[in-house]
Amino acid sequence: MAEPLKLQATGASPGIASGQVYLAERSALVSMPVAPGASGPGTLADAVETAIAALQHLADRVDGESRDIIDFQIEVLRDPTIAEMTEKRVSAGEHTVFAWVAAIDAHIAELEDADEEEVRARAVDILDIKNRVLGNLSGTPVEDFPAGSIFVGKDIEPSRFLGHDWSRGGGIVLFGGSASGHVALLARAKFIPMVVGCGRFDVATDSQVRIDGDAGTVFLDTQAEGISSAPARGQSRTDAAAINHGKLQTSDGVPILLSINVNDPWEIASIDAATAAGIGLLRSEFAVRSLADTANEDKQFQIYRRALEWAGGKPVTIRMLDIGGDKPLAGLEDDSGAMGMRGIRLLLARPEIARVQVRALLRAAPFGNLRVLLPMVTFPSEIDDMRRIFAEETGLLLRRKIAHRLPQIGMMVEVPAAALMLDTFDNAEFFSFGTNDLAQYLAASARDGSDLSAYRDKAAPAVVRLITQAMTLAAGKPVSICGDMAGDPSALPALLAAGLRHFSVAPAQRPAIGSALVGLNADGTRAAGD
Ligand code: PEP
Ligand code: MG
Repeated sequence: MAEPLKLQATGASPGIASGQVYLAERSALVSMPVAPGASGPGTLADAVETAIAALQHLADRVDGESRDIIDFQIEVLRDPTIAEMTEKRVSAGEHTVFAWVAAIDAHIAELEDADEEEVRARAVDILDIKNRVLGNLSGTPVEDFPAGSIFVGKDIEPSRFLGHDWSRGGGIVLFGGSASGHVALLARAKFIPMVVGCGRFDVATDSQVRIDGDAGTVFLDTQAEGISSAPARGQSRTDAAAINHGKLQTSDGVPILLSINVNDPWEIASIDAATAAGIGLLRSEFAVRSLADTANEDKQFQIYRRALEWAGGKPVTIRMLDIGGDKPLAGLEDDSGAMGMRGIRLLLARPEIARVQVRALLRAAPFGNLRVLLPMVTFPSEIDDMRRIFAEETGLLLRRKIAHRLPQIGMMVEVPAAALMLDTFDNAEFFSFGTNDLAQYLAASARDGSDLSAYRDKAAPAVVRLITQAMTLAAGKPVSICGDMAGDPSALPALLAAGLRHFSVAPAQRPAIGSALVGLNADGTRAAGD
């Protein structure tokens, strides 16, 4: 039998996988119907029609009073004035989803201001249909590929990764890509073997391939027989550290907190909350994956509430949407393509998106210990501007008599200018270091390109020096680290020496990082006899 062809590339997520190739010839993003004036299958018009059909179906099976409510809801969905108002906003350049949400919200506000109690009560019925339509819109935005196969392609979108069924194994091989990219960190968190930077190679769909995410190798044209599928690294690891709700001690007795990073909020259901000090980073952009989701306050509220309830009173740090740049959101390409238009800048430029998320966060806050983290902050004024939105939306919820609470608001320290000026951020209540972006911007490299992999290790001393300096400017406020460097055992001595005492890592890395931390002294030196 001929030897399989071996390609040497870069391991981005450990473990071994074998299976049939799924060759992604082109990007499979099914365009979301959110561009101004979009029409065709899956458009807002379709979502409204689907909602009407579901309501009619419901109406056939309920009593007279419920039927009245449903008839009223259908009437509103068919209301030509709402359609006209939406059309007007779309013509002015607004995205269809937000134009429609604004028209519906205006109608809700009118009803809420009515003198008659009976009319005011109808506002809730409209809120219900708004959520129904938004739910229909956010359907499946990407094509899936067969479970258990090895995805081979130029790149893979985070939403495609998250929407895929990985329960039957499988893996990822990218012609380009980077071990620092967002899909790589999703893959590591889920124990999915991944190899990047292979360059273009010829391979047929359905041929057999084997990948080794530790060694960064790909074997082509292997036979199904005789190829063992070793368990992903990390799954077999045991907790060497005596972890009690993520509270550890260094070898010389200094308390340390170990929290987890959450990318897919559904994954926490299978994680024992007692193993972590809380959620140190919930990347909301991986939970809120479409423009329709960004407009869906109720869906977001449920996601945040679930995370808070899971943590049972321990801190849950939810980062506001870090979209733009290398995390584009379908339908917002024109904005996110702009250099530097990412994270808090994009949220402030698109307040309609920020306001929905702020309301969902304010409403979720009473269900636990919420901390809101602002992404890609560069200047203190950005935090002031976001705090103003929190204050205004608090006022709105108060007027609507909806339960809410103002959470603590802190910032990612992931832009070098902010790290250097940390003492000027009086308006941030806590800080979390994002070493992935710090490394990217310090090394002047693209995050998802293969160049960052090459430069990241070389840039690590610069990142550590910047963090060490920033720690002295943090004015005694709570500080943690949630970037990938926290999950690298070889970086821990320097991070401890810099004064960090709270680490947040992918669930898969938690046992190894716990073990490493208890074997070190707080100054980063190795414990005697270790
Ligand atoms: C970081 O930049 O280190 C970080 C945690 O944010 P993200 O990886 O989501 O950009
Ligand atoms: Mg970042």
